[in-house]
Amino acid sequence: MPYRVTLIPGDGIGPEITEATKRVLEATGVKFEWEIGIVGQKAQDKFGTPLPDEVLESIKKNKVALKGPVTTPIGTGFRSVNVALRQSLDLYACLRPCKTYRGVPSPFKNVDIVIVRENTEDLYSGIEFARDTLGSASLAKLILETTNTKVKEDSGFSIKVISETASRRIVKFAFEYARANNRKKVTAAHKANILKFSDGIFLDAAREVAKEYQNIEFEDVVIDALCMRLVRNPQQYDVIVLPNLYGDIVSDLCAGLVGGLGLAPGANIGDNIAVFEPTHGSAPKYAGQNKVNPIAMMLSSVMMLRYLSEIKIANNLEKAIADVIAEGKSITYDLKTDRSQPAATTSEVADALIEKLKRQGG
Ligand code: NAD
Repeated sequence: MPYRVTLIPGDGIGPEITEATKRVLEATGVKFEWEIGIVGQKAQDKFGTPLPDEVLESIKKNKVALKGPVTTPIGTGFRSVNVALRQSLDLYACLRPCKTYRGVPSPFKNVDIVIVRENTEDLYSGIEFARDTLGSASLAKLILETTNTKVKEDSGFSIKVISETASRRIVKFAFEYARANNRKKVTAAHKANILKFSDGIFLDAAREVAKEYQNIEFEDVVIDALCMRLVRNPQQYDVIVLPNLYGDIVSDLCAGLVGGLGLAPGANIGDNIAVFEPTHGSAPKYAGQNKVNPIAMMLSSVMMLRYLSEIKIANNLEKAIADVIAEGKSITYDLKTDRSQPAATTSEVADALIEKLKRQGG
């Protein structure tokens, strides 16, 4: 039986990396039936909404989706499809492994960090009050009455929401992940010294949940200190669990430590649905050039294969990717140190991987 998977090519560089990844997945021998989902500006133009119900229904039915990046208009326009998708499907855990592969230009070696980012609340709750509106005026009034603080009249508000329920759930996920994957340590990052009523809840929940996992080391760290330590000595970290905004930022930081966004995969996981997508965005300036690195999306598909319990195939594909990177011939511009040879194109990376997989099979 083929796996039915919702395939969302996205926009910008999304369609080209999706096509490259699809070809490689099909070369693994695993059978897929793809259900294509259109979202973002294209869906807005065609169906009047950037996230059609049809796409959500397809993911709910298939339980698994592979997704390319989707552009979010900045400042105005529709809200992020990526955030809406995670919230609508309650994909509360964002899993982003950051690992050094041999041959990748990076000052660091032997980094193997897994970021576990809370995916549904915090400053991404979507509760915002634009300046000069009834909502912002009412909120300013409430703040004055309850805290005796007068905010400036030209203020807008984005609300940071942290609940004990979501905090416990994500920290539990991080520990369960650590246990299942033989990881030794979980670090919880926060800013509870300043944000006592939001990050304070996250920190308390993390400390409580940690007591249930005596065999796994636990530590907590203030987010700014974590960033400094990560760039000095990233090898000291194993699994890091964070609220949504810090998780977003720190996963890009960690991607930078291991060679850049072109190598950083991700998964958004709920209780019985998962959407796999690279950490990076739609990089519009490179769209349509067949130039960018498809490996972050391919490594996301490796995570998808593991989720589907195709462990051997996932390991083979990850090994093929690691070999192609280490050989340094069929790699895109972002991984190139030797400029004497031209960089490979997106589709040439896929060709090289398909060739490797064929040889593995033989
Ligand atoms: P971005 O990740 O798209 O690109 C930043 C830079 O990183 C690029 O200019 C490029 O130099 C590099 N880069 C990214 N992906 C690469 C790849 N595969 N290979 C080689 N280099 C790569 O970030 P941005 O420019 O801030 O965002 C562009 C758009 O993407 C925005 O609309 C943003 O909202 C959206 N976005 C979407 C997602 C998602 O779909 N999950 C995630 C992040 C950003």
